[in-house]
Amino acid sequence: MEFAGTSAEQDPGFAARMGTAASTDLSRCYQCMTCTLGCPVARHMDVLPHQLVRLVQLGLRDRALSCRTLQVCVSCETCTSRCPNDIHVDRLVDALRIEALRENRPPAMPEIRAFHKAFLSGIRARGKVYEMGMIVRLKLSTLNLFSDMVSGTRMFFKGKMKLLPHGIRNKDEVRRIFAETLDRKPDPPPTGPTPDGKGNAPGGTREGSR
Ligand code: SF4
Ligand code: SF4
Repeated sequence: MEFAGTSAEQDPGFAARMGTAASTDLSRCYQCMTCTLGCPVARHMDVLPHQLVRLVQLGLRDRALSCRTLQVCVSCETCTSRCPNDIHVDRLVDALRIEALRENRPPAMPEIRAFHKAFLSGIRARGKVYEMGMIVRLKLSTLNLFSDMVSGTRMFFKGKMKLLPHGIRNKDEVRRIFAETLDRKPDPPPTGPTPDGKGNAPGGTREGSR
């Protein structure tokens, strides 16, 4: 991957802001690639985890905020647990997602964001996934009506997808979780390191933030 960027492309304060938002010291990264080698979905990314850290270090803001990796990452934290320098790559991805949302950037992979929205809307309504409803919602939002017809039909006849929805008993508990997370007022954008050197962690995650 080519990292060279013109000075016009570089945002000098970007690395500090994202490091603060992710509560991690990006300057410690020495590009050993251990994060990438452990990432279970790296082969689907256009920017690998170690490359993403480098883009942010260099202040190449547009490239970091518009890559497919922000949607592909499954937040499994393997990269972070393997990093010899204790860099929280997963939190960096979250911070970049939030920054992209603040700027109203269209996601590089809108179908993944649509999937997360459809999934969470089912959880919000019933406390558990209703697969049939989620698929209908997803198909209508993406207008990709006929993909996965064969596998969907197979799942239906194997009883993996029910016609009627089922909810959980304690839906109030689920509503409380949504109220305290997705529905709460977003935190202000990061401005720089806090006196304790850790900065404010990314907050205000929003439904379908990927
Ligand atoms: S494992 Fe840590 S130090 Fe190595 S490239 Fe990834 S973020 Fe950088
Ligand atoms: S958190 Fe994201 S980037 Fe890190 S290993 Fe998991 S999928 Fe890969």
